[in-house]
Amino acid sequence: MELRVTKYGEPILRKKGKEVAVFDKELDNFASDMVDTMREAEGIGLAAQQVGRAIQMCVIELIPVNGGDEFNHKYDGSFVPLDLIMPLVVINPKIIPLSELETPYEEGCLSFPDIHGEVFRPDHIKVEFQDLQGHLHTMECEGLLSKCFQHEYDHLHGVLYIDRMKKSELAPLQMEINRLKRVTKQNIKKKKG
Ligand code: ZN
Repeated sequence: MELRVTKYGEPILRKKGKEVAVFDKELDNFASDMVDTMREAEGIGLAAQQVGRAIQMCVIELIPVNGGDEFNHKYDGSFVPLDLIMPLVVINPKIIPLSELETPYEEGCLSFPDIHGEVFRPDHIKVEFQDLQGHLHTMECEGLLSKCFQHEYDHLHGVLYIDRMKKSELAPLQMEINRLKRVTKQNIKKKKG
């Protein structure tokens, strides 16, 4: 089932997610709704805050084109073709940066329709997380997969990609961002009124 994607200006996007402690059928259903929503919106990642719940859970679906492994990833310590493990449900993630070097990537966000900007983040990371059964996993990765994990991880802590943009990157986007916030607030008012 598709869920409504929250937009910039909704307070939920600034809420830190609560750690997931109960791995039950309800969580399972919610994860599957999140995957449906991400696919419908043609996104590569979606955090729980983006569908109205502040918990430590996100979904990611990213498969390299042309069958190449452009993310140099290791899942639980070894190479596993990504199409076998995607979509990935990521619960209670912790991120360990493995490189000091931060590289730029042009990011977008489903909560900021049509607003793209360059964000610098570490390229090489390791993520520890749980799956829907509560089992622990690790993902070591580079490139877009690494950026995607970090973008979603930020959402789970109420941090948004605009917070990480350089001033010079943010300045030309500011009007657009303010307009989005205004429209979102008007829509919230309408619903309440
Ligand atoms: Zn986002």
